[in-house]
Amino acid sequence: MIMTKQWYQTLAESSITGKLIGTDTCLQLLTDNSIELLPLLDAAFQVRKYFHKREVTIHIINNVSNGLCSEDCNYCPQSKSSSAEIAAYTEKSDEEIITEAQQAYDAGAHRYCMVYAGKRPNRQRAERIANLVRTIKALYPIEVCVSAGIMDESSTILLKEAGLDRLNHNLNTSATRYKKICNTHSFADRLNTLKAARCAGLEVCSGIIAGMCETPAELVELALMLHELEAKSIPVNFLLPITGNRLGEPQNLSPQYCLKILCLFRFLNPQAEIRVAAGREYHLRSLEVMSLYPANSLFMDGYLNTKGKSRKDTLKMIIDAGFTVKSDKSAPELLLHEVKNTEEYKSASPGLKSDADLHPARLKGLS
Ligand code: SF4
Repeated sequence: MIMTKQWYQTLAESSITGKLIGTDTCLQLLTDNSIELLPLLDAAFQVRKYFHKREVTIHIINNVSNGLCSEDCNYCPQSKSSSAEIAAYTEKSDEEIITEAQQAYDAGAHRYCMVYAGKRPNRQRAERIANLVRTIKALYPIEVCVSAGIMDESSTILLKEAGLDRLNHNLNTSATRYKKICNTHSFADRLNTLKAARCAGLEVCSGIIAGMCETPAELVELALMLHELEAKSIPVNFLLPITGNRLGEPQNLSPQYCLKILCLFRFLNPQAEIRVAAGREYHLRSLEVMSLYPANSLFMDGYLNTKGKSRKDTLKMIIDAGFTVKSDKSAPELLLHEVKNTEEYKSASPGLKSDADLHPARLKGLS
């Protein structure tokens, strides 16, 4: 069946007016090959534009501790079940974390995300995180998000009182599939952490990892669950193949399917920050820039244990597609800052500093 223009328009209008799209339509969106990608993206873009304009919110992630994790999440190279070669370390110093917060702010990040490996923080770690949040918030006008495993209400209240804006804990996959990807904690543990965050008055950030053999119905279930949790932020990750991880190759992900998943999450969570997260470069390939039509946020500077596109190329992608950056600096200013920080630029003789990105006409055209 060929979908009419009206079919796509109804998706956009329902989403904008807060009318929940039916489960059958959501499933159809992911599975029906007669659904055309461009009108679908256009419908998702209408929703994105209505609530988020053309702004892109940049997140920069900081692995405060890395590896040595007691948990067995099969998708994660930091897990005890993985033999992936990563640089494991217990915890960065406060000075290092604060300096990296400043660097993230200077690079145009709207939000600085501190991520800790491990099942749950003990009281000592929770208090240390709270102190860091307090310091960073006093020093820089940047939003702060923490991801530190399972938390109860006493920890989430402590962080809220320290000034934390948002707590991240990804649901990752559906309740029924959870046992297949992790046995050391449960889906309920994750859900309860998000509920504790909400009770403390923190914004909830929770996302998914697509490509772990989940069905389209499970993706719809997750998108609806995050709608019910009123998640303010939803990172949509696409599984990356990492040598040594128990979960091997990602399943059933094509660039077009990844874009449809982003559209699904946009329609069901119209006001949420939908973040095209890990796997953006690897899975979307030549369609990467199209992800900005349903998504209004991305990670810059790579992910927890994998590299991504450079800051410079990410900013160029945003600018070239006509989007802006949610920052007190413009995207061209941020690009200029990045270009001037490259070793090639610093070491080039003055006459050779004619990188096309720095040409006055180009910068004028970009602003
Ligand atoms: S996802 Fe988090 S809890 Fe799970 S293994 Fe990785 S670091 Fe540990």
